Amino acid sequence: MNMIKRMFGTALLLGMFFAGCGEAGKPEEKAVDKATATPGIAETDWGTADGKPVKLYTLTNVNGTTVKITNYGGIITSWVTKDKAGNMGNVVMGFDSLASYQKASPYFGAIIGRYGNRIGKGTFAIDGTTYKLAANDGPNHLHGGPKGFDKVVWDAQPDTTGGNTSLILTYLSKDGEEGYPGNLKVKVVYTLNDGDGLVMEYSAETDKPTVVNLTNHSYFNLSGDVGNTILNHQLQVNADKYTPVDATLIPTGNMVDVTGTPFDFRTPFKIGDRIANVEGGYDHNFVLDRHSTGMELVATLYDTISGRQLEVITTEPGLQFYSGNFLNGSLKTPEGKTIVKHGALCLETQHFPDSPNKPDFPTTLLKPGEKYSTQTIYKITVRL
Ligand code: BGC
Repeated sequence: MNMIKRMFGTALLLGMFFAGCGEAGKPEEKAVDKATATPGIAETDWGTADGKPVKLYTLTNVNGTTVKITNYGGIITSWVTKDKAGNMGNVVMGFDSLASYQKASPYFGAIIGRYGNRIGKGTFAIDGTTYKLAANDGPNHLHGGPKGFDKVVWDAQPDTTGGNTSLILTYLSKDGEEGYPGNLKVKVVYTLNDGDGLVMEYSAETDKPTVVNLTNHSYFNLSGDVGNTILNHQLQVNADKYTPVDATLIPTGNMVDVTGTPFDFRTPFKIGDRIANVEGGYDHNFVLDRHSTGMELVATLYDTISGRQLEVITTEPGLQFYSGNFLNGSLKTPEGKTIVKHGALCLETQHFPDSPNKPDFPTTLLKPGEKYSTQTIYKITVRL
């Protein structure tokens, strides 16, 4: 195991830390106990895929929070953090071997691309040319296709310069890969900061017009124990509207007011309170009530058992709230616990599903010379 330690100045260690890149732009003051953690990035061999080495990286911050990420699919395999009693627990679904991800994973923790969520009938057109993608979810195309960005080996570079704890992942998605036009150069930078935020910076460039919608597919259970479902978690989402879907989960194209519906999370609601009124469970895109194009806090998830809360801060216009409806008890955690229906949930920051076929939705078109650039922070702390 190769340990790459961050170089800290004493002044930095005892001083002020920024909780997240530009997040409300405010520095957070924090007492730091040097003895509790060895901040940095550790790297370990994790097998091979497509003839390329796969590694597992452990990012650790001053609070002793650890996030493990593999360059296979850019997958976050675990996120261990304190609860209100100070006990550490893993708050995301994941496996402890590459083989498990290759065998069957419902996109646990992965980078999703080239297009996160669905494209209706796997078809879209750009400048009069129609592109046909694989239908891998009933009649539709889901999460970039059968071999999306969640199943490729990314080039990885740990970055500990300037006090960072970052992992830089890059991937070249060739023209025609999974049916999409254009060579797409993609970069995803994960940074674990000392405010317990995991910053995700996504960027991409293309040499032909294409569509791009990148996200992360982490499944959270803040209790740290899949024995508790997420039905007891409280969710708050800044969204006045959501995008209703048809029977195959493709948006109808309407943006509907959440008032008086089970989709009204403008004030916090226990997920289990109204889920029975949503056919199939929550699997919907929320139209975020944004006030700028910058980073904004858009959703907060809270678990009373552990006291942990997750804040979602993003530049994106949409949030897919997926309540783990298709988890069916067939998968187990590394500790052998069964992952049941609603055992975990996803809050995927994104552009809206099927945008390439919905002219009224914010565009996902990327042209040569343009730069795709989005940012999301998942910040997990204990509510005091
Ligand atoms: C989708 C679900 C899908 C799941 C796959 C989510 O992003 O909204 O419909 O089943 O991903 O794990």
